[in-house]
Amino acid sequence: MNDALLLSRYKLITFLACRRRFQLRYLAEAAWPAAPLAVADEARLGLGQQFHQLVQRHFLGLKIEPATIDDRTLRGWWLTFERFLPQLPHGRALPELTLTIPIGQHLLHGRFDLLIIGETDGRAFAHLYDWKTGRQPDETTLRHDWQTRLYLAMLAEGGQALWGEGQTPLLPEQISLTYWYVTAPTKPHTFVYSPAWHKQNWTEIRAIVAQIEAQPNTGGVWPLTEDRAQCRVCAYQALCGRQEVDTPALSATEVAVSLLAGEADEETDDLLALPLEPALP
Ligand code: SF4
Repeated sequence: MNDALLLSRYKLITFLACRRRFQLRYLAEAAWPAAPLAVADEARLGLGQQFHQLVQRHFLGLKIEPATIDDRTLRGWWLTFERFLPQLPHGRALPELTLTIPIGQHLLHGRFDLLIIGETDGRAFAHLYDWKTGRQPDETTLRHDWQTRLYLAMLAEGGQALWGEGQTPLLPEQISLTYWYVTAPTKPHTFVYSPAWHKQNWTEIRAIVAQIEAQPNTGGVWPLTEDRAQCRVCAYQALCGRQEVDTPALSATEVAVSLLAGEADEETDDLLALPLEPALP
C-alpha cells in the first residue's frame, strides 16, 4: 500500500489480530458499533478518564481539592495518588504528551500520561509514567505489552526531538517507563530500556509495518484471521460471513470491551485494556 498511515499501538494490535479487521476499521472506515457497556462498566470508564484528567491538572500545576471531588471512588483514587505517588526525577514534566515519529513512509503515534525529561550527571534521560485504575498484571505481561514496547521504542528512535535541534539520540538505557496502579499503589513497575531490548522491539515493529505495506492496495480483501476466537469479539462478523463461530460466546462485558478497544483515543484505550471490575482503593 502507498498511503502514509498514522499507526498507534492499537492499530498494530488490530493488524496482528486480523488483517481484514485492520483494513475494514482503518482503511475502509467501516462503522464500528458503539459497545453496549453495562451501566457499572460505563461509569468505571468515565471515572478512569476523570482520574487521568485530575492527574493531568496536577502536573499542569493546578491545585486539586479532594473535597470538591464528588464521587467517592474517584476521591479515594485521588487521595491514594497523592499519598503514594512515586518519587519523580527532577526535570521537565510533560503531561499528556503526544509523540509522533516516522517509520518508513508511515508515522508511529503515542500519547503518554506523563513524560519527564532532564539531565542527570550531564546525561539526558526520559522517564515515562503511566497511571492505571484497573488490576495490576504481572511484570512479564507488562513487559510484553505493546504499550511498553512501542512507547520505549518510540522514545529511543525519536525522543531527542523533545530537546530541540542538536540533541543526540537518546540511548535506550537513558529511557525508563513506570506503571503506577491505584489498586497497587506501593508496587509501581519500572522498566529500564536496554540496547538489546530496543533492537528486538524495533526490528519487530518495523517487520509489522512492512507487513502492512505489503498488503494489496487495489481494493482486494486482506487475509481473514485463522483465529476464530477473534471473530467472536469483532463487529465485522457479518461482513466476513463469520457469524457462526463454533466457540463459546463471550459475556456482554467481554464483547463490549473488545468492541470499544479499537477507539483511537489512546487514553480510552488505556482504560479499556484493563479489567472493568470495580476495584475500590
Ligand atoms: S470477523 Fe473475524 S475475520 Fe472478519 S474482520 Fe473480524 S476478526 Fe477478522
